[in-house]
Amino acid sequence: MTAGTRAKQKLKVLITVKTYPIPSRKYDELVCTAGVTETGDFVRLYPINFRDLPYGQQYKKYQWIEVVAEKHGGRDVRKESYRPDCDTLRILGDSIKSSPGNWAERARYALAQKVRSMEELHDRQQADRTSLGIFKPKKVHDLVITADAPDWKPSFKAAIQQARLWETRAVSKEPPRKVPFKFHYQFECDDTRCKGHKMMIEDWEVGALFWRLVDRDLSQERAADKVRDKFLLELCGPDQDTHFFVGTILAHPTTWVVLGLFYPKLQSRRQRRTDAGPSLFDR
Ligand SMILES: [Zn+2]
Repeated sequence: MTAGTRAKQKLKVLITVKTYPIPSRKYDELVCTAGVTETGDFVRLYPINFRDLPYGQQYKKYQWIEVVAEKHGGRDVRKESYRPDCDTLRILGDSIKSSPGNWAERARYALAQKVRSMEELHDRQQADRTSLGIFKPKKVHDLVITADAPDWKPSFKAAIQQARLWETRAVSKEPPRKVPFKFHYQFECDDTRCKGHKMMIEDWEVGALFWRLVDRDLSQERAADKVRDKFLLELCGPDQDTHFFVGTILAHPTTWVVLGLFYPKLQSRRQRRTDAGPSLFDR
């Protein structure tokens, strides 16, 4: 495709990332929905408007979809940003569930274009406006909780209400509730240039878990602690082979955030040998 043209194309995308609403000034990229093609190339899709989509066309993570889309123009020059024609959206079969064997199937696509570090992503961003990626942090040091505004700004709330982004609350027409905390991962990469990072996590699951806990009568502070336990101690624990999906958001093009996690269990050496069949080097 020649630079400058914005031809429509049919994309087949495995959805790997859905974020909680991310407040911005212009209300165009309300959430980040992203995934990978069959070759592992990243694709970001917005705006997605569930308002006009029948329930069966509202998709889950790790579900293949097909949609006609065109590259964004104007303000969004990021390499992977597409504007989907939601009328053309088709769900292709069931989602790839998270059983141990299926993580390998997910990894085949999600990790196909894995990079080494945030430093490598910064290089790529300079070179070709890369704005999405996945890598394995060398060490996750902490998940820092800080207090945040208790509610959406009214104009942002109106924008997410109108878009009706989330199937779970679409019926009641209520937008997802604002989480009154921010969660930042502190981590370092496997890269000699790394000086450490502090990046916000915007994963849909963070907000969803927080409100599930509050709805079970936990205090908001206790719920925030439990979210930290889950996303730090459990999902970044020693037996997890956790990778970070990261990306920029339109309103802050130089700021990278964690959009989601890819967290298969680390396979034991014995398990790996069994999967690969008998090894020539055993005994
Ligand atoms: Zn780094």
